[in-house]
Amino acid sequence: MIKGEDKTMDIVSNIKIERSNGSKLPFVDFNNIKFGKQFSDHMFVADYKDGEWQNLKIMPYAPITLSPACAAIHYGQSVFEGMKAYKNEDGEIFLFRPEENAKRINKSAARLCMPEIPEDMFMDAVKQLVEVDADWVPAVEGCSLYIRPFLFASEELLGVRPADEYKFIIFTSPVNGYYSDEVHVKIETEYSRACEGGVGYAKAAGNYAAALYPAKLGQEAGFKQLVWTDAKEHKYIEEAGTMNIMFHIGDALITPNTELKTTLAGVTRGSVLTLAEELGVKVEERRVTVSEVIEAAKNGTLKDVFGTGTAATIAQVSSITYEGERFDLPALETRTLSNEIGQVLQDLKRGRAEDTHNWIYKI
Ligand SMILES: *Cc1c(COP(=O)(O)O)cnc(C)c1O
Repeated sequence: MIKGEDKTMDIVSNIKIERSNGSKLPFVDFNNIKFGKQFSDHMFVADYKDGEWQNLKIMPYAPITLSPACAAIHYGQSVFEGMKAYKNEDGEIFLFRPEENAKRINKSAARLCMPEIPEDMFMDAVKQLVEVDADWVPAVEGCSLYIRPFLFASEELLGVRPADEYKFIIFTSPVNGYYSDEVHVKIETEYSRACEGGVGYAKAAGNYAAALYPAKLGQEAGFKQLVWTDAKEHKYIEEAGTMNIMFHIGDALITPNTELKTTLAGVTRGSVLTLAEELGVKVEERRVTVSEVIEAAKNGTLKDVFGTGTAATIAQVSSITYEGERFDLPALETRTLSNEIGQVLQDLKRGRAEDTHNWIYKI
């Protein structure tokens, strides 16, 4: 028996459910899923108006109508979350630490002057939506139902000020593992993802838009991801693309700290650090210099580099390039720490391992 079962949630919000007539499910091949191209039958929608959340409903997935003057489109008041639902062999469905996403969307929202989403409402909406589309959660190993909650300013408004009207929507999409090829990365020393005082710690849509161009240049040069460095000096490592990044150097697991608010505090990041500590590994959350990583790569003490995030869970890095010089990292099967933690997380998420941390929610 897994522990988290007593965490089954009580529904407190008043959500109207309008079911689709006719499912798209027969047209989906779960053994051949294209990432982010297929969407489940239903979505959750709520409106924020006159200072309160209203019209909470689950309805058929469909396009939405917006004014061309919709504030989010012009001034970028838009934040999102990413989480996943997993199914085990018995057809039971699990969420991994969803309350962390509920908290984080509110941190992001606060930074962009957007209204708070009550955590109960967030949780109820996720739970009921996944329940309604339970058949869309793939049971295939490595696959899951990606859940995308997002909040944006929907007010018709040309002036620059925090909007008075918002929409909170959640849709879901069956996905397989994210990275299948080798991950070669470059340490970026020209462009920046975030700066101190900025919005790097928020899951703001604009952060992604701003990263597209440098990421495209990186991809053209053969790099799957960029390793972002600090905006002031490009001396300190921050993140890897849209993942947090960790380095196993000697006997320590080292990762950039989040206090400067230039990195996003990932749920996967926190979970990996907890598991590493429990395995007796020394965990260091601090500023990480590019030079110590390069030094470790040169002297052979750099055992592992990996990104962490909901999409990939753990993405092991095959090589790091810095100022034109490429450093190849140890073979993936020798990466004992990331392989072991990756397996534990996979087993937890599918309800196969004992949930000693109360991380798992059963739907
Ligand atoms: C979402 C995200 C992560 C990973 O967070 P998880 O909660 O682990 O999915 C890391 N970095 C950035 C920039 C992100 O947007």
